[in-house]
Amino acid sequence: MAHAAVPTASKLALYPGLPPECKPCYNLSNSQNMSHETIVHYFWLCPRVQYFWQRVPCFLQGICNAPSGPVFKVDLRAVITGFGAWACKIPNADVLHGLAVWKIFRARAELSQDGKRLDGLAMFLRW
Ligand SMILES: [Zn+2]
Repeated sequence: MAHAAVPTASKLALYPGLPPECKPCYNLSNSQNMSHETIVHYFWLCPRVQYFWQRVPCFLQGICNAPSGPVFKVDLRAVITGFGAWACKIPNADVLHGLAVWKIFRARAELSQDGKRLDGLAMFLRW
Protein backbone atom coordinates (compact mmCIF):
# COMPACT_ATOMS: atom_id res chain seq x y z
CA MET A 1 0.00 0.00 0.00
CA ALA A 2 2.77 2.48 0.90
CA HIS A 3 4.34 1.84 -2.51
CA ALA A 4 0.99 2.20 -4.32
CA ALA A 5 1.50 -1.22 -5.88
CA VAL A 6 -2.19 -2.16 -5.66
CA PRO A 7 -3.93 -2.64 -9.03
CA THR A 8 -6.69 -0.06 -8.57
CA ALA A 9 -9.33 0.56 -11.20
CA SER A 10 -7.73 3.92 -12.00
CA LYS A 11 -4.48 2.17 -12.89
CA LEU A 12 -6.17 -0.65 -14.76
CA ALA A 13 -8.15 1.91 -16.78
CA LEU A 14 -4.95 2.43 -18.79
CA TYR A 15 -6.09 -0.69 -20.63
CA PRO A 16 -8.92 -0.12 -23.13
CA GLY A 17 -12.39 -1.02 -21.91
CA LEU A 18 -11.65 -1.06 -18.18
CA PRO A 19 -13.51 1.64 -16.22
CA PRO A 20 -11.67 3.74 -13.59
CA GLU A 21 -14.63 3.81 -11.21
CA CYS A 22 -14.73 1.99 -7.88
CA LYS A 23 -16.61 -1.27 -8.33
CA PRO A 24 -17.73 -1.58 -4.66
CA CYS A 25 -19.32 1.88 -4.98
CA TYR A 26 -20.88 1.10 -8.33
CA ASN A 27 -24.25 -0.28 -7.31
CA LEU A 28 -24.53 1.96 -4.26
CA SER A 29 -24.85 5.28 -6.06
CA ASN A 30 -26.02 6.63 -9.34
CA SER A 31 -23.49 6.72 -12.11
CA GLN A 32 -23.02 10.51 -11.88
CA ASN A 33 -21.45 10.26 -8.40
CA MET A 34 -19.03 7.48 -9.18
CA SER A 35 -15.61 7.75 -7.57
CA HIS A 36 -12.45 6.84 -9.38
CA GLU A 37 -10.75 4.03 -7.54
CA THR A 38 -7.42 5.55 -6.56
CA ILE A 39 -5.18 4.06 -3.89
CA VAL A 40 -6.59 6.53 -1.33
CA HIS A 41 -10.16 5.67 -2.29
CA TYR A 42 -9.39 1.94 -2.16
CA PHE A 43 -8.03 1.95 1.41
CA TRP A 44 -9.65 5.03 2.94
CA LEU A 45 -12.37 6.96 1.11
CA CYS A 46 -14.62 4.13 -0.12
CA PRO A 47 -17.76 4.23 2.06
CA ARG A 48 -17.60 0.58 3.09
CA VAL A 49 -13.92 0.98 4.00
CA GLN A 50 -14.76 4.11 6.00
CA TYR A 51 -17.36 2.08 7.90
CA PHE A 52 -14.68 -0.52 8.63
CA TRP A 53 -12.12 2.04 9.86
CA GLN A 54 -14.72 3.79 12.03
CA ARG A 55 -15.06 0.59 14.08
CA VAL A 56 -11.33 -0.01 14.49
CA PRO A 57 -10.54 2.65 17.16
CA CYS A 58 -13.07 1.26 19.65
CA PHE A 59 -11.65 -2.24 19.21
CA LEU A 60 -8.06 -1.04 19.60
CA GLN A 61 -8.98 0.96 22.69
CA GLY A 62 -10.37 -2.22 24.21
CA ILE A 63 -7.21 -4.27 23.70
CA CYS A 64 -4.55 -1.64 24.35
CA ASN A 65 -2.49 -1.46 27.50
CA ALA A 66 -4.26 1.69 28.71
CA PRO A 67 -7.94 1.21 27.92
CA SER A 68 -8.96 4.30 29.89
CA GLY A 69 -6.57 6.59 27.97
CA PRO A 70 -7.45 8.82 25.06
CA VAL A 71 -9.52 7.35 22.27
CA PHE A 72 -7.52 6.07 19.31
CA LYS A 73 -7.90 7.99 16.12
CA VAL A 74 -7.62 6.28 12.75
CA ASP A 75 -7.04 8.69 9.89
CA LEU A 76 -5.42 8.31 6.49
CA ARG A 77 -1.96 8.82 7.99
CA ALA A 78 -2.58 6.05 10.53
CA VAL A 79 -3.81 3.74 7.78
CA ILE A 80 -0.65 4.33 5.74
CA THR A 81 1.81 4.25 8.64
CA GLY A 82 0.41 1.28 10.57
CA PHE A 83 -1.58 3.14 13.24
CA GLY A 84 1.09 5.85 13.50
CA ALA A 85 1.92 7.11 16.98
CA TRP A 86 -0.63 4.74 18.53
CA ALA A 87 1.22 1.63 17.33
CA CYS A 88 3.46 1.45 20.42
CA LYS A 89 0.38 1.24 22.67
CA ILE A 90 -1.38 -1.53 20.72
CA PRO A 91 -0.32 -5.15 21.25
CA ASN A 92 0.72 -6.69 17.92
CA ALA A 93 -0.03 -3.45 16.09
CA ASP A 94 1.87 -4.52 12.98
CA VAL A 95 -0.13 -7.73 12.72
CA LEU A 96 -3.47 -5.98 13.32
CA HIS A 97 -2.67 -3.29 10.77
CA GLY A 98 -1.52 -5.83 8.19
CA LEU A 99 -4.66 -7.88 8.70
CA ALA A 100 -6.87 -4.79 8.41
CA VAL A 101 -5.31 -3.78 5.10
CA TRP A 102 -5.46 -7.40 3.93
CA LYS A 103 -9.19 -7.65 4.74
CA ILE A 104 -9.85 -4.54 2.64
CA PHE A 105 -7.81 -5.91 -0.25
CA ARG A 106 -9.39 -9.35 0.06
CA ALA A 107 -12.94 -7.97 0.07
CA ARG A 108 -12.19 -5.97 -3.08
CA ALA A 109 -10.66 -9.01 -4.80
CA GLU A 110 -13.65 -11.18 -3.84
CA LEU A 111 -16.00 -8.67 -5.42
CA SER A 112 -13.94 -8.52 -8.61
CA GLN A 113 -13.38 -12.23 -8.99
CA ASP A 114 -16.35 -13.89 -7.31
CA GLY A 115 -19.00 -11.18 -7.26
CA LYS A 116 -19.12 -11.51 -3.46
CA ARG A 117 -20.03 -8.13 -1.95
CA LEU A 118 -19.05 -7.57 1.69
CA ASP A 119 -20.14 -4.43 3.49
CA GLY A 120 -18.00 -2.62 6.08
CA LEU A 121 -19.48 -4.52 9.02
CA ALA A 122 -18.77 -7.90 7.43
CA MET A 123 -15.22 -6.78 6.72
CA PHE A 124 -14.81 -5.69 10.32
CA LEU A 125 -16.25 -8.89 11.76
CA ARG A 126 -13.94 -10.94 9.57
CA TRP A 127 -10.95 -8.88 10.76
ZN1 LIG B 1 -15.60 2.96 -3.48
